[in-house]
This record gives sequence, structure tokens and C-alpha cells, in this order.
Amino acid sequence: MFPPLKMSEPEVRDKIMNATHQTVSATLKKSGHNFDDILVLLSPAAAEYLPVMRELASIHRRRYFGRTVQLYTPLYFSSSCVNNCVYCDFRHDNPSTRKTLSLDEIINDARVIKSTGIDSLLLVAGEDPKAVTIERLERIAREMKKIFSYVSIEIAPQSEKNYRRLFKAGVDGLTLYQETFDRQRYLELHPCGPKRDYDRRLEILERGGAAGMRTLGIGFLLGLYDWHIEAASLAAQAIWLKHKFYRSKIQFSFPRITPTSFGYIPPIPVSESELEQMLLAFRIVFPEYDITVSTRETSEFRNRVALTSVNNLSAGSLVAPGAYSEPDQELGQFLLNDQRTVTEVVKALQNSGLEPVTKYWDAALVSDQIRDFHI
Ligand code: SF4
Repeated sequence: MFPPLKMSEPEVRDKIMNATHQTVSATLKKSGHNFDDILVLLSPAAAEYLPVMRELASIHRRRYFGRTVQLYTPLYFSSSCVNNCVYCDFRHDNPSTRKTLSLDEIINDARVIKSTGIDSLLLVAGEDPKAVTIERLERIAREMKKIFSYVSIEIAPQSEKNYRRLFKAGVDGLTLYQETFDRQRYLELHPCGPKRDYDRRLEILERGGAAGMRTLGIGFLLGLYDWHIEAASLAAQAIWLKHKFYRSKIQFSFPRITPTSFGYIPPIPVSESELEQMLLAFRIVFPEYDITVSTRETSEFRNRVALTSVNNLSAGSLVAPGAYSEPDQELGQFLLNDQRTVTEVVKALQNSGLEPVTKYWDAALVSDQIRDFHI
């Protein structure tokens, strides 16, 4: 469980597994929701209420986001990593060749992404302190900010001081998944490297929040542990972070593990219907928060959940460094189930009556003075 939560895992499990049809029905009729309500909506009993949950989530989604769906694209700039996460193709022990892009190569990939119309970028890299220093990160952030209105990062954990430097260099958001909130499973999956330290990882988003990051992206990898418990932990983490960093926007992600090149099979796979239940439950309990679904999911599923719960989608994604300029890269981080171009994603959303938005944040409103004031 998320450690600061005062409830034990058996207590949380008990509330989820023993929720009744009456409690689900009463929860769906409430006007405001709390932590106990998410437990009810994650329950097996609530799984029978998906049509009602879809209806209610759609109303919340429309109330807070209208018809808009934000689109972003990830740019991987290094596949070099000192960690050995057993579920990841970038793990240190994988003998495949690694690549860390030069600044010029990053700019080339960024221009290709920008040419698709996307104005929100997620910079992604494995954890390699020698290949990706803070000075390099600052240079990359400054260059990316010249091209994109909104730049966020999903990179190795940094100190609060470094996050402040990155925020000042133009980074607006930080994404970092705990992967699994179960301490024992976490140790099994992270056999060595700095990422093995569970508590250190748990602190990182607070450093980002303290540094002024406007968005804090949180999530767990679906398939590593019982999703009911993981989702409850994620909800607790969101409440915790929002309480401490009320100015930052929380972004939920629900990445299901897809096959790796070395055939890793997640121990507790999550079905599409279970994933949908989570998305709906989170939209109902956290109506104004961002919910992201990546190209790990199929186009059909993404089109469908964009109407009820999800308001943030990646589009046109490639998950290997340099892949936008030279598509035949050897090593990507994971398998993509939605390989549509940005144009195809935009058209499909428009055909569903939605309004894709390629800009998350307007740089014109963020002068350096405002950044100084914010931090
Ligand atoms: S999940 Fe991240 S830290 Fe772990 S091996 Fe992959 S790139 Fe490295």
C-alpha cells in the first residue's frame, strides 16, 4: 500500500471485496466523493455497474473538459539505463545496443513531432547519470521549450534543486510511476541499481511539487500486483500530493504492461474491462484530474474511453531514441498497440464528436518572471 495511508492493506482489501450492490448504488448517487468511495467503485460489485458508471463519468468528463482531448507525444532521447527493472526492454542486462541522442538529434526528432501539429512534449530517458547530466537536461529543456508550448519529463529521479533548475529551463511537468506500491513485489522487480530503493522513489514527486512543477504525473504498471490494491494506493497518493501541492495538477496514468522483446509476462494481467472500471472510478471520484491512456492500448479502446473518462492521450508515439527521424531503431521500450499517426488519431476523435487539442499550456502566459515567482 501507499505507505502514508493510515489504512492497512487487509482493511483496504476488505472494503473493496465486501462492497455490496447497495453501497455501489448509494456511492453513484452521491454528489461529492472521498477515498472510501473509490474503494467501493473499484469493487467486484461495482463491475456490474459499468453502464451506469460510464454515464456518470461521461457527465463529469464533459463538465470539466467539455469535448476536448489533450494530445501529446513522447520523445525518447536515451535508452541507456543503470537499473534492471525486470519488465523493461531498457534494463541494464539486456544486451541490445543503447543510444543516447545528441542535442541536434533530439531537435531533429522534436521538429518531426512538431510537424504533426503536436505542441505538448513528454521527454523520456532511462536512468544513466553519466549519459544524462543535469546540465544536459537543462540544455535539452531550453531547446525543447523553443519548439513546444508544454514540456514535461519522465526521466531519472532528480534532487529538488535539479527540478527547480529544470522548471526554470522550461519544464512544466514531471511524471514518475511508483511501478508497484507493494514493497515486496517492488524489491523482486528491481533487483539492483538506484531504483531498488522504494522509499527514495516515493519521495520524488514531492521534490517535483516543491520545485513548482505544474503537473505531477502518477501511476503504477498494471499487471505487477493486485490492481484493486494498487489503484487504491494511487488514489491515496493523489490525495496526499494534492494536499501538499495544491497548485499542481495531478495526472493519472494507467499503463498496462505489454510484451517485451525478452518475453516478460506480467504476473497478474489486467483485462480491458478491469482497466475501464478503474478509469471510470477515477473519473467519478477525481472529476477534474487528468486521466491519461497511452498507445499501449488499442485504438478501439482509446477511442471508446476518450468519450467517458480519459482526457489526455499520447499520439503518433515511437518509443526508441531517434525513431521519429529514423524509424528503424533496434530497441524500443515496449510494444505499441495503437500505431496510428497523429492525423489518424485526430480524425477518429473528431468523428466521435470530440475536439482534439494539441497544446496543453500556452507559453505566452509563462514569462520568466512568473516562473521566478512560482518557485
Ligand atoms: S523502467 Fe526505467 S529505470 Fe527501469 S530499466 Fe526501464 S528505463 Fe530503466
